Amino acid sequence: MGVYNVINSTMRCPKCNEKIDEWQSKYLTYDGYVLANGLQEIKLNEHIDGEMHTLCDNCETFLDVPIVKGQCEQAKLGMPQRK
Ligand SMILES: [Zn+2]
Repeated sequence: MGVYNVINSTMRCPKCNEKIDEWQSKYLTYDGYVLANGLQEIKLNEHIDGEMHTLCDNCETFLDVPIVKGQCEQAKLGMPQRK
């Protein structure tokens, strides 16, 4: 596993509406500068663009969410993972 930042977001799973405990940053920029990954907690604001992702604990769907100016866009749903 690589290092990532944790994103402070209240967004729920768009498929099953489960509360998500932890969103991981995939790629974030602040005013266009790449933010280093270092397990920081990031609060989204209008300076931040990028993507965050997680695996929903409940329905096991992989969620990929684009972030534009601090706003979460429509999630891209991945295939549920098999255990
Ligand atoms: Zn879910």
